[in-house]
Amino acid sequence: MKIVMLGGPGAGKGTQAKQIAAKFNIPHISTGDIFRANIKNGTELGKKAKGYMDQGLLVPDELTCDLVVDRIAQDDAKDGYVLDGFPRTIPQAEALTKALNARGEALDYAIDIEVPDENIVKRMGGRRACLGCGATYHLMFNPPKKDGICDVCGKELILRDDDKPETVQKRLNVYHDQTQPLIQYYSEAGILKEVDGTKDINEVFDAIVLILEG
Ligand code: ADP
Ligand code: AMP
Repeated sequence: MKIVMLGGPGAGKGTQAKQIAAKFNIPHISTGDIFRANIKNGTELGKKAKGYMDQGLLVPDELTCDLVVDRIAQDDAKDGYVLDGFPRTIPQAEALTKALNARGEALDYAIDIEVPDENIVKRMGGRRACLGCGATYHLMFNPPKKDGICDVCGKELILRDDDKPETVQKRLNVYHDQTQPLIQYYSEAGILKEVDGTKDINEVFDAIVLILEG
């Protein structure tokens, strides 16, 4: 099963993608996590990506598309994957379609998690992320068992620089300008499914499972 997650920043793509990956036994591929790991490890890619990310801008397509095309060609992705945060622009979606076509493959679902901007702004300030394993929490809606500590790997949780309110508004603008057109793109491809992302985390997951198993 090959899935892409759509939705604004903070819509819940990562939260749901992790659960989908666990249930269907496919890898969760998050370009945001890949960039953050590169920043943490001080790689060339990380150095290039950081400036864009800190400003709430998209990392250029040239640094992003080949990375994903190579990742989905790896062995663990042969039975499918859930892409989280990619594609984010029409040229990225076209690059993905082209790479899949070349291998006689196609995506099965594009799941759009719909959340109005007002809810997103509230959600982002409460998001806490683990840079150790990529787990995500929310102070109110999905708190860790121990304050400030990751349940999965025991490392410290942080407020991402790009989750600060001034950057969140910029990321929302970038989303509306560059990423939202993908809804039309995948609707025309006949694989778009929409879920109400304002419901609680388990209800959103149940709605997604209904789609994937239906
Ligand atoms: P994205 O990957 O789309 O940027 P996340 O999955 O990281 O978003 O979710 C953003 C924040 O909102 C996180 O703190 C997460 O715990 C919380 N969250 C995710 N889904 C919901 C939901 N349905 N209701 C309330 N909070 C949620
Ligand atoms: P995320 O973790 O998905 O919220 O992504 C965090 C940041 O990483 C984004 O705001 C972008 O700066 C960058 N990023 C992640 N995925 C992409 C992508 N597909 N294209 C461009 N930039 C990306």
